[in-house]
Amino acid sequence: MQMYDYLIVGAGLFGCVFAHEATKAGKKCLVIDKRAHVGGNVYCENVDGIHVHKYGAHIFHTNDKDIWDYVNQFTEFNNYVNSPISISKGKLYNLPFNMNTFYQLWGTKTPEEAKTIIENQIKEFGCKNPENLEEQALSLIGKDVYEALIKEYTEKQWGKKATELPAFIIKRLPVRYTFNNNYFNDKYQGIPIGGYNKIIDGLLKGIDIKTNVDFFKDKDALSGLAKKIVFTGKIDEFYNYKYGNLEYRSLRFENTKLNTENFQGNAVVNYNDSNVPYTRIIEHKHFEFGKQKHTVITKEFPEQWTSEKEAYYPINNDENQKKYQAYKALSLQEVHVIFGGRLAEYKYYDMHQIIASALQKAKKELN
Ligand code: UDP
Repeated sequence: MQMYDYLIVGAGLFGCVFAHEATKAGKKCLVIDKRAHVGGNVYCENVDGIHVHKYGAHIFHTNDKDIWDYVNQFTEFNNYVNSPISISKGKLYNLPFNMNTFYQLWGTKTPEEAKTIIENQIKEFGCKNPENLEEQALSLIGKDVYEALIKEYTEKQWGKKATELPAFIIKRLPVRYTFNNNYFNDKYQGIPIGGYNKIIDGLLKGIDIKTNVDFFKDKDALSGLAKKIVFTGKIDEFYNYKYGNLEYRSLRFENTKLNTENFQGNAVVNYNDSNVPYTRIIEHKHFEFGKQKHTVITKEFPEQWTSEKEAYYPINNDENQKKYQAYKALSLQEVHVIFGGRLAEYKYYDMHQIIASALQKAKKELN
């Protein structure tokens, strides 16, 4: 029996925003998730008063005032600014690549000095049309920064050579000739006060939710509950992998509670070197300026994805993109299914982009 207008498969940001908008427009939604909780990868676990970002660190940032106002409906944000540190061959560097980083690398004190070095290295490399991540990095920032802070981190993170990865990934990181360690260029940034769960709870208020429900285990019965489906899972799984598997990168998180007040003095410390098996250590309390006597740290280990692991990052190289386009063509023929989010669109989305995309799709659908 079709008791609902929409069955929303996956309670991550896309699903929750869509459900919220549809409910506001008078539609009846059921949100299901195979995990035991809602919130997808923004879900936080409260460990003795510290909000632990259970599926990896999430720092909210956007340039779009409408998106900022949208999330601020549900909770206020603090003024956390992400300024990661990177450790490379025993030395500390500021990120993103800025005057502090250049001073630490070469002792350069003025923008002109730093620019001269970088421009010479770019010229020496002499590539006009970068076609992969390595070429893109070398023609953006030069050899020294690439070797100290990018190559090993990237190859460890993605499990592929930097020459086999798409160029766009490295364009996420700013390059600046100012002493500014802010990882993002966006106008608005922060961490929700009280954690991300507050936003999710606000979005799903009054909406029917069922957790521990695997859509694929009971597809026909679940699909029969609603007029339409909003699918936010893996698009290749939806089509039973008929064109083959899309590749993802997975992660393993190792959480430790320590009876120390301050373990690393920063929320995010990256480990560039290939002989360290994790990419970063997160100390969650620093996202919220925590004053507890204890701390919780998480080591993030990139892993090869297999079907029983979580799919965190789409690997958008040419081969996978081609496969995705074939799946997308099928999805465009669906009349009763809407696809959205990082896994269904096979896209390296940030939170603000997911929200924008969900709002746009909801608007189109509900008008
Ligand atoms: N990256 C790097 N060195 C760093 C941090 C990032 O080379 O210290 C590269 C790496 O290829 C990574 C990409 O930049 O995949 C994007 O990094 P970001 O921090 O935006 O990734 P996320 O937080 O989404 O994992």
